[in-house]
Amino acid sequence: MKQYDLVVVGGGIVGLSTARAYLMRYPHLKVAVLEKEAQLGQHQTGHNSGVLHAGIYYKPNSFKAKACVSGQRAMIAYCDEHGIPYRKVGKLIVALDESELPRLMDLWERGNANGVQDLQLLDQAPLREMEPHLNGIKAIYSPNTGIVDYGKVAQQFGQDFQALGGSILTSCKVEQINTRQQSSILATSHGEIETRLLVTCAGVYADRVRALSGVEGEVKMVPFRGSYYKLTAEKSHQVTRLIYPVPDPNFPFLGVHFTPTMAGEVLVGPNAVLAFAREGYTRWRVNPADLLDTLTYPGFWKLALQYWRMGTLEMYRDFVKPAYLRDIQRYMPSLELADLVTAWSGVRAQAMNRHGDLLDDFLVVYGERVAHVQNAPSPAATSSLYLGNLIVDETAKAFGLGVA
Ligand SMILES: Cc1cc2nc3c(=O)[nH]c(=O)nc-3n(C[C@H](O)[C@H](O)[C@H](O)COP(=O)(O)OP(=O)(O)OC[C@H]3O[C@@H](n4cnc5c(N)ncnc54)[C@H](O)[C@@H]3O)c2cc1C
Repeated sequence: MKQYDLVVVGGGIVGLSTARAYLMRYPHLKVAVLEKEAQLGQHQTGHNSGVLHAGIYYKPNSFKAKACVSGQRAMIAYCDEHGIPYRKVGKLIVALDESELPRLMDLWERGNANGVQDLQLLDQAPLREMEPHLNGIKAIYSPNTGIVDYGKVAQQFGQDFQALGGSILTSCKVEQINTRQQSSILATSHGEIETRLLVTCAGVYADRVRALSGVEGEVKMVPFRGSYYKLTAEKSHQVTRLIYPVPDPNFPFLGVHFTPTMAGEVLVGPNAVLAFAREGYTRWRVNPADLLDTLTYPGFWKLALQYWRMGTLEMYRDFVKPAYLRDIQRYMPSLELADLVTAWSGVRAQAMNRHGDLLDDFLVVYGERVAHVQNAPSPAATSSLYLGNLIVDETAKAFGLGVA
């Protein structure tokens, strides 16, 4: 049986950042990352908007604000150091009419309070000058918001970790966790593995992996699919920056946005609809057990009652492309149906409690020598270096490893 001092379950950006930070600080430990897929970063890490968020949205002094602002700085320095390409394309948050101005100004105050640098408030004329095809009466411009390929960042985290002596076991699904007095025995698709300490960062399976270890927890992961279109080559030149709506404060997601990518395309999306499978990347992918799991959770019905109108509209737009188009034409009136090409989807791992609240904050729960990350929502990719260090701080303290 393979034996380790520490196993990290989940080869996404959070697990890899954590594993890397552990070996940087505790180089004497024998550490492994276990990932069920054949390659690293195949789920949220490889299916997101690729935005290096600057930290505008989050409540001043909140954990997310600090993690995002510091995390973005650390991520940019890391990309510079490792030659990972990124671009500070800049971002506009656009108010379409007077009714959105109070919320836009609230974001303006938040961004400044969070220390986001070089923010500007633009009226219609300079906005038009920047993005001539865009509708809007006022916007916040954040020149330091950027884009990067988080899949590449995760690969580099993995390489750093291996260079420090860590082992990565892919196609290694953790199926059972038996906690003993001094260690945990993991039954995996690679055979049994013994570890003294265990940290799990399992994304959309965070709650199930926690339950395998017998640790109690409050939350259920609810998968929300976010699908993207991309603009045709003829229209993609019409968007040069990230363009976001003023978000609805009653909804945890940022709204459909225009995102230039490192590959030179422009994505439109993601929307946010309930996925019928934890890894439900397409509309028709249904996993009856996953769906039952969601539908029998009391929190889901509380959420559904609260957001049924918005959820139904979002579902309608997901199925009816002209409706999706009408929504984005409010920002880009020149777009037509043929300009939108179906691209791909991501599935957000969103933690929900029994009251139907979607948890906004990062959450870790602990057992004996085990720690389970239970919520790592956006902007966790931007913040991943910060989060990895924080997870090491907190778990090393809980495991009694001493300060490194
Ligand atoms: C559509 C979308 C857009 C987003 N846009 C942005 C953005 O622009 N900027 C930003 O900062 N953030 C964004 N995010 C959020 C960000 O992508 C996530 O917060 C981040 O990737 C979470 O990383 P993770 O490592 O926790 O999860 P994941 O990347 O999902 O990794 C979890 C890993 O655990 C593995 N795993 C699960 N169960 C087991 C098991 N039993 N055994 C072994 N392995 C297991 C999975 O295979 C997976 O690889 C977005 C997310 C989505 C879905």
